[in-house]
Amino acid sequence: LVSSLAGCGVVSNGDDKNTEKAVNAKAGDKIVIGMSMDTLKEERWQKDRDIFTAKIEELGGEVKVLAANGDDATQLSQAEQLISQGVDVLVVIAHNAEATATIVEKAHKEGIKVIAYDRMINNAEVDYYISFDNVRVGELQAQAVIDQAPKGNIAYIGGADTDNNAHMFKEGAMNILKPLEEKGDIKIVYDQFSKDWKPEEALKNMENALTANNNDIQGVVAANDGTAGGSIQALTAQGMAGKIPVSGQDADLAAVQRIAEGTQLMTVYKPINAIATKAAEMSMAAAKGEAIATEKTVNNGKIDVPSILLDPIPVNKDNLDVLFKDNFHKLEDVYKNVP
Ligand code: BGC
Repeated sequence: LVSSLAGCGVVSNGDDKNTEKAVNAKAGDKIVIGMSMDTLKEERWQKDRDIFTAKIEELGGEVKVLAANGDDATQLSQAEQLISQGVDVLVVIAHNAEATATIVEKAHKEGIKVIAYDRMINNAEVDYYISFDNVRVGELQAQAVIDQAPKGNIAYIGGADTDNNAHMFKEGAMNILKPLEEKGDIKIVYDQFSKDWKPEEALKNMENALTANNNDIQGVVAANDGTAGGSIQALTAQGMAGKIPVSGQDADLAAVQRIAEGTQLMTVYKPINAIATKAAEMSMAAAKGEAIATEKTVNNGKIDVPSILLDPIPVNKDNLDVLFKDNFHKLEDVYKNVP
């Protein structure tokens, strides 16, 4: 991948850090995109990887993917590996919003642009950020729960403290819940993150919430479908599953089945096809040193990062067809076990 044309007089795009990479790409060598992933545990990430890879290949590039299994040190060393292999652009799905700043610095030293995918990397000179409107995700979750439980005790079962998104989902949820609490309509009786987004951590959280409140809880805002699953397991043990609303996110198959069965109220569907396709196009453009049009910026504590934020879609039992139309799930898979 090392460019044999570097310094041979090809016109620079004016961005000295990336000149060599850009020349390389323009010279017709195959572009290689590195993808450093936190995890492949939740169902969505496999789709992100597969759709992203297919699109890059369609555009004539190649992808090297490494997944860190939720470990910061592993993610750092995998990213270093991709950097030393000479990828043209590095796409990062950060396990830890703060720790991954080091990856950005290391990539930049080698003239490699970094795209933060789905999750922001804080306090770093991230080149581009592509995600969904994550505050909106939290608002949609809380609003759906409140529509069913306008009065009473609400539990917030959050995601991973280390994930910037978990904070944005919570911010969105609190935008809806706090004013209602101030009005005296509801009470937020529990509010905890679930380590590494683990369903078993959410289960423990929900058990604690129920115990602390003698089961007197009327609604659960769970940050994603994994944490919703853990929460619903705790509710099931108390004979409360399906009796109180629980939100989610990702439209995981298991969650969509729970929605069809009635134990989960809703999920927030984020079209993975859209983010993965767009991110692939951005990556190829960045590799070629082309400018990328973005309409927004998001501040990450260090800079305003040029950003693309896609729209999340709330899905409940009345509009599951959104998922079938998008080919995200098949109707027969969802209703397989529903009587
Ligand atoms: C993503 C969610 C996902 C969660 C756990 C978040 O950053 O936005 O879609 O459920 O991580 O992987």
